[in-house]
This record gives sequence, C-alpha cells and structure tokens, in this order.
Amino acid sequence: MKLESFVSNTWVSGADEGRVLVNPVTGAEIARADSTGVDIAGALNFARDKGGRALRALTFAERAGLLKAIAGVLQANREKYETIALENSGNTKVDASVDIDGGIGTLKYYARLGQGLGDSRLLVEEARDQLARDPVFFAQHLWSTRPGVGVQINAFNFPSWGMWEKVSTSLLAGVPAVVKPATATALLSYEMVRDVVAAKVLPDGVLTFVCGAGDGLLTELSVMDSIAFTGSAATGSMIRSHKSVLASGARVTIEADSVNGTILGPDAAPGTPVFDLAVREVVKALSVKAGQLCTNIRRIFVSQEHADAFAEAVAAKIATLVVGDPADEATRVGPLINKAQRLEAEEKIAALMAEAQEVAVAPMGDIADSSGFVAPRLLRVTDPAAARTVHEVEVFGPCVTMLAYSDLAEAIQLATAAEGSLALSLFSNDPAVQQQCVGDLAAWHGRILCVDDEVGRAHTGHSIVMPQCVHGGPGRAGGGEELGGQRGLRFHMQRTAVQGGPGLLDRLQAAGTLAAL
Ligand code: NAP
Repeated sequence: MKLESFVSNTWVSGADEGRVLVNPVTGAEIARADSTGVDIAGALNFARDKGGRALRALTFAERAGLLKAIAGVLQANREKYETIALENSGNTKVDASVDIDGGIGTLKYYARLGQGLGDSRLLVEEARDQLARDPVFFAQHLWSTRPGVGVQINAFNFPSWGMWEKVSTSLLAGVPAVVKPATATALLSYEMVRDVVAAKVLPDGVLTFVCGAGDGLLTELSVMDSIAFTGSAATGSMIRSHKSVLASGARVTIEADSVNGTILGPDAAPGTPVFDLAVREVVKALSVKAGQLCTNIRRIFVSQEHADAFAEAVAAKIATLVVGDPADEATRVGPLINKAQRLEAEEKIAALMAEAQEVAVAPMGDIADSSGFVAPRLLRVTDPAAARTVHEVEVFGPCVTMLAYSDLAEAIQLATAAEGSLALSLFSNDPAVQQQCVGDLAAWHGRILCVDDEVGRAHTGHSIVMPQCVHGGPGRAGGGEELGGQRGLRFHMQRTAVQGGPGLLDRLQAAGTLAAL
C-alpha cells in the first residue's frame, strides 16, 4: 500500500518508492509513504487562495460547524482507527483511545468554543484606553485572521491527536491546515484524512495533507504563513533556523521533547493517599503508549526518607506489567513504534545507566529482532547532586529515573535542571510545599499538576493534555504554546491596536466578539 498526499484537491502519489511503515510487533512492512515530486508550492497557493478565502468568509460559529463535522466523520469510523493504531503504532486499546479520542475530543472542544464566539470573524479585547486629554481618541486591541496557511509538522507518537489539535485551532481561527504527519506512523492520519475528504465536509483547500518527507514545506513559505512543529528538539532547532523559513518571515512555534518531572513532597509518606497516587501515575508513565508521550514523567524526585519505600512500591507494580502484542487483551505495554526507536531508547537507557542503577524491570520474553519492544523499568540515580545525563537525555519509551532529595530546595533545583519542560506534577498535601513548588517552578513549565487528597483520583493525569490548558513549555521544551482555550487561536491571528474615535471602536466591537486572548 502506498500512501498518497492530498494537495490542490487531488490525491497524488510520490514518484519514489518511499519510506516503509511497519507493524512494530513483527517489523513487517504494512505501507509506504513518499511525497517526491508532489507540487508543494502549488498546494500551498491553492490552500492560501481557495481554502483561506473560504474560511475567512465563515464566522467562528460556522467554522466550529466544520470541526464538529470532522469529529462526526472520525467518530463514525472509530473502530477502524483502533485497528490501524494497533498495527502501525503498536497501541493497546487504552493507548489508541488516548490518541484517537483525544483528537476527537479536542475537535469537539474547539467546536463548542467556536459556537460561543458566535457570528463574527473578529475578536476584540474589552480594554479601551484613552490616549488624548479629551475623550475623543482611544486605543483598543483586536485580533484578525492571518491570510496564510498553517504548515503543521507532527511527531510520530500522536498521529491522530497531534494532527487534530493543530487543525482545530487553525481552522477555527480561519487558517487552512497543511498537515505533514511523521512518516513512521502516518497510516492513521492518512485514513482519517481520507475519510474526512470523502465525506466532503470541508471547503476546497481547507485541509491539505502531505504524506512523506514533504520537501518544499520549508522553502515555499510566505510572510503570512506559519509552521507549527512537534517533534525532537534537534529537528525543531533546524526548522527554526532554516534559511528559507527565516527569509520568509513566517511564524514558527516549536513543541519539542522535554525531560518532565514529578515531585513527591516530603509529606508524601508511604501509606498516605498521595504516595499511592504518585505510584499509580508513575506506573501509567511506564505503560500508557509504552512511554511515548512528550509530556511523560521521565524523572521522579522523592525525599531521601521515603525513596526506598517508593522504589519498592513502584517495583512491585512493574513486576505485574504485561508486555506483549497489543492485540492480546492482557497486554498493558505494547512495543515502541519500530526497531529504530527501540535501539534509540536502549542506547539512551545505557547512557542513563552511567549515573544510575536499575531498580526494577518488567518481565519480557524473547522478542523478534525487528520488533520495537522495550521492557518498562525504573532507574535510580546514585549521586543526584552530580548527575547530569538524567536531566538531558529523554528516553522516548518506558523508562523513569528516580532521584532522592535532601530537602525541598534541592528537589526544586533538580526539577529546573532539565532547563524547561512541558509538564510537572506534584504530590503533596502541604500548602507550603504546593505554594513553593508552584511559585518557584511555574516559569520552568507549561503546566503544573498538583495532586492532593482533595483532588484524589479526579485528576486528568500528568501526561494528558487538556485543550483548556496551555500545551508547550519554555526552554528545552521549545518555547511554544498551543491550545489553552481561546488563547489557542492567537498563533493564527494578528493582534492590532486600533487607534481612533469612540464611534469607530464601538462599531468594530459590535462587529466582533469580545474575547480574552
Ligand atoms: P522528529 O524526528 O523530530 O520528527 C518530527 C517531524 O518532523 C516528523 O514529521 C518528521 O518527518 C519531520 N521532519 C524531519 N525533518 C524534516 C524536514 N527537514 N522538513 C520537514 N519536516 C521534517 O521527531 P519524532 O521522532 O517524530 O517525534 C518524537 C519526539 O517528539 C520526541 O522527542 C518527543 O518528545 C517529541 N514530541 C513532542 C511533543 C510536544 O508537544 N512537545 C509531542 C509529541 C512528541 P518524517 O517523519 O517524515 O521524518
């Protein structure tokens, strides 16, 4: 099977054989993808012209209707997607749900939000400032749609959610989406886009799909275009500094890898609910999607007093994890998406072992050499004050490393050593600990999850990205900011200060929707 690209309203095949997509359980080829020779410049022009015009003519509520329609198509075909996620990504049913239902849920969330923005095409901030002595000259800020395309380059671990979360905000803002899935797991994105195109729920040019390397996506941009990238820090930095991207003046946002942490407060003693909740969350980090989540817990900070007990509790759970074929109902942990990812994870685990010891590793039988299986494991750093690699190396798989701290100040200092992360979680009932961690660590993170007895199990999890909340993080995490309710639209819109008389500003305000961007 050869995956095609959907450009300028036509499905086209690349000219070369293409890269191979495999089933990570066996390593067997299931499809190929290639975009060699695809007319990217023409596709971008088509999207800018046809898709952009069509979307900008619609109100927010009408664009919300498009998102709802996409979600409806995906919902109707959901069962098929679960099978593809199993075959191409090695997903268990739980893993597949995080990706597929996460994508549908985000589309629905932005559809509801768009309905609320109503029959306008302009967002207006409420604040109006008087700029002259007499009340005749004021300034008010408004947000309007950028007349370009949104090039969206995705990572392999979320072929559904990663694609639809970016499409949701760009379409609602009025910007056509040009999606490039990561090749290794492109089959799910491909089938979903095929279904949406076949259902004819979108105007021409609103959704373009480039399946393969996507040569030209970085070189054919113009000033009103944007690139939203998710993937490794290395590729992100290449894109950010790419000559053509810089020359075009296009906007760029980067969601990169990060070495996220979890802190157990000094009060999180064995036998307390927060201790158990933290164990549960760490076990999820070792099992859900075999640890292939960008927000996943990679480092755990536990007080020296409770470190042994925590290690024992996690080790006991690791011993019960069933690693195997995701088609088997009993399987809790499937494979990484291919052998190359397995080898990379093994190499990075070996790097961590230079400053850590293995506490526990899940039982795993013999594996096929061409498979992606990696046994979940807990490591423990031997000298936390001296360790460096644990803060720098992201094992994109089921591996978490523990560091014992002497006091909260040390835990906070260790958490910042990763130089900026997507998500941090804190398990503590102590208000002073909560206050200090949030105060000292907020600037280093895009999101902080605070779990105490009151929150209990009601929380959505360390790794799960909610569309209401910022997704992105400072420093190493790329500095991007996606989602976050209405603010998710900002990347696709221009903020303009309009200076003028009260009559004009009243008319603009009446034509737009008051929004808190
Ligand atoms: P990657 O190798 O950096 O690739 C990411 C995307 O960039 C893929 O679609 C890839 O295409 C594309 N790409 C590579 N070179 C390109 C070029 N010259 N021009 C245009 N596109 C190019 O990352 P990955 O291995 O797919 O993803 C794993 C990483 O992503 C992990 O480190 C994880 O932490 C991170 N991640 C971050 C987030 C977040 O939101 N912050 C979310 C998920 C994952 P091909 O596949 O065709 O090579």
